[in-house]
Amino acid sequence: MTFEHSLAFAQARDAADPLRAYRNEFLFPRHHDRDALYFTGNSLGLQPKAAAAALTQELDDWARFGVEGHFQAKHPWYSYHEELTPLLARLVGALPEEVVAMNQLTSNLHFLMVSFYRPEGKRRKILTETRPFPSDTYAFASQIAFHGGDPATDLVEVQPRAGEHTLRTEDIVAEINELGEELALVCFGGVNFYTGQAFDMATITQAAHAVGAVAGFDLAHAAGNLHLKLHDWNVDFACWCSYKYLNSGPGSVAGAFVHQRHLGKQLPLFAGWWGHDKNERFRMERTFKPMPTAEAWQVSNAPVFSMAVHRVALELFDRAGIAQLRAKSEQLTAYLAFIIADVEKATGTRLEVITPSDAVQRGCQLSILAHGHGKALFDRIAERGVIADWREPNVIRVAPVPLYNSFEDVWRLGEVLKECLS
Ligand SMILES: *Cc1c(COP(=O)(O)O)cnc(C)c1O
Repeated sequence: MTFEHSLAFAQARDAADPLRAYRNEFLFPRHHDRDALYFTGNSLGLQPKAAAAALTQELDDWARFGVEGHFQAKHPWYSYHEELTPLLARLVGALPEEVVAMNQLTSNLHFLMVSFYRPEGKRRKILTETRPFPSDTYAFASQIAFHGGDPATDLVEVQPRAGEHTLRTEDIVAEINELGEELALVCFGGVNFYTGQAFDMATITQAAHAVGAVAGFDLAHAAGNLHLKLHDWNVDFACWCSYKYLNSGPGSVAGAFVHQRHLGKQLPLFAGWWGHDKNERFRMERTFKPMPTAEAWQVSNAPVFSMAVHRVALELFDRAGIAQLRAKSEQLTAYLAFIIADVEKATGTRLEVITPSDAVQRGCQLSILAHGHGKALFDRIAERGVIADWREPNVIRVAPVPLYNSFEDVWRLGEVLKECLS
């Protein structure tokens, strides 16, 4: 596809987009008298218009039924998470028994590490990418310390080569091989939050398994962004949040994946009553009998209000289809890269995109290093109604998402950048 830097071209692409109607399913923040140019679906996805009715339904059922809402609500609260399971399974490429909506992201990372980070003898190390999200670093370091280890030696980050911002798969595999028997867990982000690099999860998983280590992924920036195949890739475990690409609202319920081969195996886990065999839960027995599914990792009963929003958001993904979304996303982000390069030329300003240019190594997001312009440029585009985000030390992140962003949005961003840099 050859792109053109014109409004007419962008509008023609939008007219030909089979997913264009989904934009109308979302509420956009306003800037003066028009919709803001929203490029932060990677940080907080927009609100689906259906969210308010879904929440009201639960409030009404609570008013009407009180405690009986657990079974009599339109979407019974007792089994609420089960409505999300098939939607999540299709979204992340899993079997239904492998996924569960529960808790929060970092909480899930901890709960899963209880089962999947089991340092023993000299096999104690955790390998992750350079500059992981800080919450993940805190989780890794505290788990290592909890097991009596030293994060200074047991937490290892794969570093980029001199002069490079992102990682090469061959270097990740080499590091896995080098750590070999010392490696307990490889835990990467599916997409790095800072650079926007998508990692080759199948290859990383295979390499980890080859040296006897476990492979887990934090999919905060990958769920709803990439076309994931967690089951086929043989990933051991994964977790993600629902408020970024998944549009389920601030702090909304997170998700978890445990591969089928680990289910029903009585792995060590931190148990709670919602992980107990649901047919016997209310016998209130003293002995924990785990569900033979990822639900065994549930601890507490379901946060219904956030699940209500999550449900309607996931239904949109399911209707649109992640394969179709991803196909549009590749085009939309390629168009963004094209527009940025053109603005660079037109204004003589260096806008270095540090996200890989290869489509399989990125999702929606592009991370721009604006040499010498960084924060000031970010502030100027914000004044003109562009909602992007700034990440210290010096990156502007822009993420056109295929559900509600358009080619015209990307073209408009280009106009704003030109104006601010001229
Ligand atoms: C957004 C994000 C988090 C946030 O964690 P919460 O537990 O949802 O607050 C953690 N890890 C990564 C990689 C993220 O991108």
